[in-house]
Amino acid sequence: MKFKIQLVTEHETGQEIQELVCLERETAELASIGIALDEAKTLLVSLQKEVVSRQLADYLAVKNKCPECEKPFRHKGKHPAVFRTLFGNLEFSSPRWFQCSCQAHSTRTFSPLSELLTDNCSPERLYLETKWASLISFDLAANFFEDAFPIEAHIQATTVRNHLHRVAKRVEAELGEEQFSFIDTCKRDLASLPKPSAPITVGIDGGYVRKWDDKKTHFEVIVGKSILEDGTNKCCGLVRVRLKVWGI
Ligand SMILES: [Zn+2]
Repeated sequence: MKFKIQLVTEHETGQEIQELVCLERETAELASIGIALDEAKTLLVSLQKEVVSRQLADYLAVKNKCPECEKPFRHKGKHPAVFRTLFGNLEFSSPRWFQCSCQAHSTRTFSPLSELLTDNCSPERLYLETKWASLISFDLAANFFEDAFPIEAHIQATTVRNHLHRVAKRVEAELGEEQFSFIDTCKRDLASLPKPSAPITVGIDGGYVRKWDDKKTHFEVIVGKSILEDGTNKCCGLVRVRLKVWGI
């Protein structure tokens, strides 16, 4: 039996049909039921390549005229570029065009796709890489992506680390200047507050509690203890339920 998977692209002028993958099943056995991971990877890579190449071509077709005088931009050349997605690293030729002479510009040429592809990695891939690299080691995260996604033959742990650092820097930058204090009080009010009687030692710790039979369900416990110099102390604790635990 054969299964042909086609991509149907609808333009304003009509339809375009292209065969992406053909799956063949000779015998019916447990391992041949459904789509295998390797087949899914091949399909996704093929689909992603076609979708992205059409999107880029469409974008360039819209942008190829000067917005002021509508004169087509003169082409200077092309350079190879890569866009990394969860469904493959897409290699393409990025054009470089001359600026239109009807306006003054700071550069003679420009790359039209750089306005669209502001990063060489898709936001979705950066998000998932950052998520998993913050939960497990870079090596394990790289292995997971290699197994589950058709990213590339061998993904380096350093690639995952670099992507995580890039996201971390951007998030840090979005936080703005570090704030020294979040207490919005004037100096006079602050001076009138009673002084603490003695140094306080504070300890905070946390952990996960799991049910022995079903190790996936768990809840988080955070506990703390404050001790004064005279030995008196106070304890606190909270349970953050992340999943439904034991029907509670
Ligand atoms: Zn112009």
